[in-house]
Amino acid sequence: MGSDFALELTVHAGAGAYICGEETALLDSLEGRRGQPRLKPPFPAVAGLYARPTVVNNVESIASVPWIVARGADWWKSMGTEKSTGVAIYSLSGHVQRPGQYEAPLGVTMRELLDLAGGVRAGHRLKFWMPGGSSTPMFTPDQLDVPLDYDSVAAAGSMLGTRALQCFDETVCVVRAVSRWMEFYAHESCGKCTPCREGTFWLRSVARRIEAGQGRPEDLEILQDIPNSIVGRAFCPLGDGAPASLTSSLKFFRAEYVEHIDQGRCPFDHAASHLFEEVAA
Ligand code: SF4
Repeated sequence: MGSDFALELTVHAGAGAYICGEETALLDSLEGRRGQPRLKPPFPAVAGLYARPTVVNNVESIASVPWIVARGADWWKSMGTEKSTGVAIYSLSGHVQRPGQYEAPLGVTMRELLDLAGGVRAGHRLKFWMPGGSSTPMFTPDQLDVPLDYDSVAAAGSMLGTRALQCFDETVCVVRAVSRWMEFYAHESCGKCTPCREGTFWLRSVARRIEAGQGRPEDLEILQDIPNSIVGRAFCPLGDGAPASLTSSLKFFRAEYVEHIDQGRCPFDHAASHLFEEVAA
């Protein structure tokens, strides 16, 4: 581009583990080791890839840089909220008419994003949604007008996380959705620390048996108790986030769990949810 500066860029494909979204596990994986989080400090900026100072950023952050350089910081700050400035990619999936990636100012609401996405699928209504992916506490339609910036979502009891907004209509069994997420976290737990390795195993086991109609009344207390042994005790954020969907679902939809236990079966017609397997996977 007319300068004498040359940049050498290497694109390296990952091997697919969820934990490699954690920056130090990513670095271990890049070095050819099993992807597991490192003890911090030292932080990557001090000792990262091959023990050299390393800056780890998301692609989305890096992609914003040329625009900020070209148009200035004030232009960037003219969008978003006072503390969460600029625009961000919101990823809508599940029971919406037009799932996809939507770029919008931070602070946009789910109601506005749903309008952009054509709303919930025809003839159905929103039952619950995840503001930041499956490792964040779920929201219900009551939170549709919460500004989707970091502070407002936290004040409303969840996290903006990855901005992966997963939407579920009234045909979805919340116990089934949560059970699938517990399967996921038990599978993706890297096993380095006991609270997460054992805790996600037990969350999966208990959620699985309730969904299968083999739950016992005391299982609800067990489900409520297991996260106390994980959250704040795990080595990395995967463990802290693993029980979030379950804990929040017990707050909003406890009756659905009780129904599964009392009836000894799932009361939902899974075929009606149509996108379920795809959404919850
Ligand atoms: S919290 Fe889970 S993913 Fe993170 S280090 Fe511990 S076992 Fe591994």
